[in-house]
Amino acid sequence: MALVNENFLQLTENYLFADIAKKVNAYKVLHPRQKVISLGIGDVTQPLCPSVIKAMHKAVDEMANADTFKGYGPEHGYAFLREAILKHDFHPRGIRFDPSEIFINDGAKSDLGNIGDILRWDNLVAVTDPVYPVYVDSNAMAGRAGINRDGQWSDITYLPTTAENDFCPELPDHGVDVIYLCYPNNPTGTVLTKAQLEKWVKYALKQEAIILYDAAYEAYIQEPDIPHSIYEIRGARKCAIEFHSYSKTAGFTGVRCGYTVVPKELIATSMRGQSVALNHLWERRQSTKFNGTSYISQRAAEAIYTPQGQSEIRATIAYYMENAKIMRETLQEIGFKVYGGVNAPYLWVRTPHHADSWAFFEELLYAAGVVCTPGEGFGPSGKEYVRLTAFCDRQDCLEAMSRIRNMVSQTHHKAAQATEKEE
Ligand SMILES: *Cc1c(COP(=O)(O)O)cnc(C)c1O
Repeated sequence: MALVNENFLQLTENYLFADIAKKVNAYKVLHPRQKVISLGIGDVTQPLCPSVIKAMHKAVDEMANADTFKGYGPEHGYAFLREAILKHDFHPRGIRFDPSEIFINDGAKSDLGNIGDILRWDNLVAVTDPVYPVYVDSNAMAGRAGINRDGQWSDITYLPTTAENDFCPELPDHGVDVIYLCYPNNPTGTVLTKAQLEKWVKYALKQEAIILYDAAYEAYIQEPDIPHSIYEIRGARKCAIEFHSYSKTAGFTGVRCGYTVVPKELIATSMRGQSVALNHLWERRQSTKFNGTSYISQRAAEAIYTPQGQSEIRATIAYYMENAKIMRETLQEIGFKVYGGVNAPYLWVRTPHHADSWAFFEELLYAAGVVCTPGEGFGPSGKEYVRLTAFCDRQDCLEAMSRIRNMVSQTHHKAAQATEKEE
């Protein structure tokens, strides 16, 4: 008799975006003429840049010819891409890696979800709250999360990040072994300074813990002194694995490519006290369970690093960040407390009057025809926030802001007065 992995039975269904879609559809049935503007889903909207398209066409043509056809590629990824990564993402920041420390992935989510394969089931895991759900659910599937009570796991350490602590998580009051950090952050759009990240690296080194650092939004950083890579912090190569993705950097959500850095110096310990290099374990895991990212996707990623490719992706990022700026300035002007949106394409907006995030979601939908994501969907610390994304067309962004402005001027409980009273 086949038995299931019981850990899956404790997972709550992933209803967030389905629930949003249901509510939006109900609204559309009642208001068939109103155009609904979605600032909800965290997916890019602008097409791939010309350099990437050209590289993909060329790669397809190579596949059409027996002399240049590519079958299985190296599990680590093609050397041309790993060299480009080292040269462009790390050397300019004074960081040296060997190509064998770079693993090309098919998007960061797979590796973020799979990395637990090489870590024992009883490591203590810490995540920030609110959180990107992959970190929690993948640990729950491995039996590392304990018991689920109302969506909170008994063995996960939640580190609240809210306006009250300036979105900088405090060190846990007990030892943890594995820490997920994501900066710039999804969903809050906030960042850590070098000094703030240093605190975590120090903690991990002292604790012999591992930081799993999600740098998916690194390309959106605009301000100086915000680390683009955790390896800018001294000692991080002894305690951190870093995940990169071209999804948000270059619109690759449908192309699938990124990379993971597992430094050779990163060591974990066996129960018998033996030191084990995680680079080797990950290589072993990948060569068994992964057959590589498509050649076409890897050539597409390589094209991002050409001068032309760089200028094209920077233009798209600048476009999204201009949306973020418009949104931030409008919402602040009409009295909302807004976080993020400076070094990330997400805005984390405090609901007026401590409104519940689902209630405010409905208000925005019904009074403005604008869709956001209720913060509660990312964890209990999100229950008085909503997330807005800047991954939209400019026209939609402007229209959404003008509708929210009207909504606020028409409602008696002006957001402005609400937030002033809170202080
Ligand atoms: C979008 C995103 C990723 C990237 O996912 P891919 O699998 O590379 O598309 C990783 N982490 C976070 C927090 C994200 O929002």
